[in-house]
Amino acid sequence: MTGPGTVRDPAGPPVIEFRGVGLSYPGPPAVEALRPSELTVGRGEFVSVIGPSGSGKSTFLNIAGLLDRPTAGRYLLDGIDTASLGDADRTALRGRRIGFVFQSFHLLPHRSAAENVALAMVYRAEKPRQRLARAREALRQVGLGHRAAALPTRLSGGERQRVAIARALVGRPSILLCDEPTGNLDSANTENVLGLLDDLHAEGMTVLVITHDPAVAARGSRVLAIRDGVLTEQARA
Ligand code: ADP
Repeated sequence: MTGPGTVRDPAGPPVIEFRGVGLSYPGPPAVEALRPSELTVGRGEFVSVIGPSGSGKSTFLNIAGLLDRPTAGRYLLDGIDTASLGDADRTALRGRRIGFVFQSFHLLPHRSAAENVALAMVYRAEKPRQRLARAREALRQVGLGHRAAALPTRLSGGERQRVAIARALVGRPSILLCDEPTGNLDSANTENVLGLLDDLHAEGMTVLVITHDPAVAARGSRVLAIRDGVLTEQARA
């Protein structure tokens, strides 16, 4: 298996391209949860999006992750205009191109780490044995090869999030979309998970982290701020 940083086509289109993408809820009262925004995330970038509660982070994540359709503009993922896709094609594209990492890990408690990772491939035309072998490989990539047989309850919070990251990586997505990935972790485990995201970025993976925590956001090589639905690029330090 190639590494998680496998680059599909370095000269290809950006991973994420927003052309005037916005979302408003009709209400009443009408809410412009994301104002029409321009955004380009190139292959291999590590981008943070920071904003307080209610600023539009989930709206942004749901659009970028193909969970919601924008009400304005065009969203191109890997150069594919997602507006023209029906629901089944959007779901398939999401499954192949986006690796989600959530605050609360979403691991099945009675399945081993390797089984949890393998379940991400359940819809793929591979035999269970092949899926488990790939799951173990993904666990090795996140430094957890030795814990493949462990149940999530026997793992630390940081290790659980590493399993969730392995699960997100195993399908070789174009981008890791992380929603408050350290929100449930203490400082040591936070550092452990952020260190892994740094490593994946160094290997070429495209990473986008959504957070309300400035210390987490600062790990990105590019920081976007969102406030009252307005997405802006922060000046680099
Ligand atoms: P965050 O994730 O930063 O907390 P959200 O993206 O959830 O922010 O929300 C952005 C804005 O959109 C908020 O003002 C919120 O109240 C509003 N909003 C979110 N979901 C809905 C909805 N289904 N209907 C109406 N307004 C909504």
